[in-house]
Amino acid sequence: MNTIPLLSKIRAIRNIGMFAHIDAGKTTTSEAILYHVGKIRRAGKIDDGNTQLDWMEQERERGITITSAATTCYWNDYRINLIDTPGHVDFSSEVLRSIRVIDGAVIVLCGVGGVESQTETIWNYAERESVPHIIYVNKLDRPTADFAGVLEDICTKLTKSAVALSVPVGSEGRFFGSLDVLSGEPERGYLGDVAEGATAREVKAAKAEANRRRDSLVEFLSTLNEDIFQTCLSGRDPSPRQIKAAIRQATIRRELVPVFCGSSLKNLGISTLLDAVIEFLLSPDESRIEGRPLSKNPAGGQKISNVAFRVFKTVVDRHLGRLGWCRVFAGEISSGQKVSNLRTGKEERIGGVYLMHANKRERVESAAAGNVVAVGGLRSASTGDMYSDVHILPSAQPFDFPKPIISVALSPEKGLNSEKLSTAIAQICSEDPTLTSRVEDKTGKLLLSGMGELHLDIAVDRLRSEYGVRAIAGNPQIAYRATVGKKAEGIGEYRKQSGGHGHFAVVKVRVEPAKPGSGIAFEVESGALAYEGSAAAKNRAKRNGIFHTYVKSIEAGIREAAALGTHSKFPLSDMRIVLLGGQYHTYDSTGRDFHIAASLALKSAMQQAKPVVLEPVMKIELRIDDQCLGRVLADLSKRRGKIRSINPNDGMSIVGGETPFAEMHDYATVLRDMTEGRGTFSLEFLYYKPCLKRQVKDQLIGCG
Ligand code: GDP
Repeated sequence: MNTIPLLSKIRAIRNIGMFAHIDAGKTTTSEAILYHVGKIRRAGKIDDGNTQLDWMEQERERGITITSAATTCYWNDYRINLIDTPGHVDFSSEVLRSIRVIDGAVIVLCGVGGVESQTETIWNYAERESVPHIIYVNKLDRPTADFAGVLEDICTKLTKSAVALSVPVGSEGRFFGSLDVLSGEPERGYLGDVAEGATAREVKAAKAEANRRRDSLVEFLSTLNEDIFQTCLSGRDPSPRQIKAAIRQATIRRELVPVFCGSSLKNLGISTLLDAVIEFLLSPDESRIEGRPLSKNPAGGQKISNVAFRVFKTVVDRHLGRLGWCRVFAGEISSGQKVSNLRTGKEERIGGVYLMHANKRERVESAAAGNVVAVGGLRSASTGDMYSDVHILPSAQPFDFPKPIISVALSPEKGLNSEKLSTAIAQICSEDPTLTSRVEDKTGKLLLSGMGELHLDIAVDRLRSEYGVRAIAGNPQIAYRATVGKKAEGIGEYRKQSGGHGHFAVVKVRVEPAKPGSGIAFEVESGALAYEGSAAAKNRAKRNGIFHTYVKSIEAGIREAAALGTHSKFPLSDMRIVLLGGQYHTYDSTGRDFHIAASLALKSAMQQAKPVVLEPVMKIELRIDDQCLGRVLADLSKRRGKIRSINPNDGMSIVGGETPFAEMHDYATVLRDMTEGRGTFSLEFLYYKPCLKRQVKDQLIGCG
């Protein structure tokens, strides 16, 4: 069995995430990479459904990437741990999780589509998490592909610091690969000189373009790098080595974003991309992401941890049981080692360490800091958990996942007991934090909630294919919420006197609107609490104020009532609930009494607070033919949509706007009809906004 890799070799590791808007060619690019590194003999093709990374049954059927698969490969003696991620917005939790464990990102763009809506979302995630990135413009073999146009698009929409480090030789059907801006040489690929087949004229034009871009690159670098500045000042030309070092430094500082070109389908541009990953992105020990300070400079003199790793995904393997995909930040993990989950405090034993190549695995004895591996035996592992062999660590920031916006009621198929269904649902929810489930109080139905219809659809499919549980899904329902229209107060009383010990609790609360997206905040007003004197303890009298030991029960009662919803059946959100006071009885009051009284107080306050229903609003981006523009815009406005921008792009119009989710359930079919199949759109959750009662659509009849 292998031990991977020695700590001294950490410099030779790159943990890379691949990100893209759906269909830009991210999976094809990952496949082409595996092909180049000689890992697979023939690159799989998405359209044939035989790719290596898209291994889940549904992914093959639907031709999309659902779960992020990590795979390990080698390029020029460097180990690249490649994390593939889904481009569809329904699965953005996967994207978020991956970003926290990588040291560099490759953002794949389509040479025709350029910067698309999900590209911007990914860009913002990567910026927020300070992950250095490079851009790869794919599909340059396609008709109307335009590298220079995409570069401009990047500069307008993402960053002014994007710089081309390779340029295309030829274009569209006559695209012959990439030419290095620094050396002016065509890419030397797997198959020799890739520009083979191009005419001398095409190569000459590419060289002239590379020269031009090299000059502007050096000029730009001289504004960022002292060494380059001084060389230029002395009238000399910086050497390729100097330039590369300056590019690396600027990329890591995110002052420059290198852009490369290629066609993954034709295996062109891939070796340049791989070289760039090695040359310009960080190794784990240079990376400034969490975990590193643990081994080098523990904050506040805390104990140095020997081992620290973060679980970024959990899956259930049929043979090995629960596996956690982990990024090792410090030390070395090995089978049999005892580690603690820092969230639960539970000690667990590592069952096995595996290197994963899509759905195949290789058992290794141990894995050192900087690696991405799958770990068995972590029973309590849940996404985002940090593990260590000591208990004292700086607290790891929890992931901030988007909340589900659509639900579906599930019931077991005839002959299946509902317990089996709930167990399987609990399992898939534990793997994906943007999937949640609960039993609806009033109907007793099992509700599964997620980020979109596709997300829920896939989850139901997985219940069948992975857990052998067939569920009947009702019509999807929008996850509406409710909030307060104005400030109001309410009192809840719970009293019962029946012989022996009675029940007594009075709670007074105020509800107030809070900013969108803030959820429920619970506060205690100063003066709300009473202090029990020793003499009073003997007294059966009712006392004004609330004894502090009941506050926990009050908060629990309020949060439970808010989650169930008070007047509408929609959970409450975006409001502050302030405990103003109440009464307790020295002998009769219990925590349970306050739990009940608190929920009654919230209901009573909500009655006065002019409740408002909130609906999810989506960002929409459409790409449509100019001829259909009028029709599509008129239809969108009927759907309460708001148009924010219309930009021309290559004979098409790119329409940006926002629209209530409730109005979009049949949109794929409608848009297909309106544009004769040529229009495309993407939806992404934006925020919750008040809507009128009559606009609430309880059942999305016809969803599918
Ligand atoms: P993903 O959704 O970003 O993973 O994209 P895929 O890799 O699934 O690719 C989407 C579609 O684009 C598939 O039909 C691919 O065959 C096609 N595709 C990917 N890369 C290229 C390319 O370089 N050139 C062309 N012409 N098509 C490509």
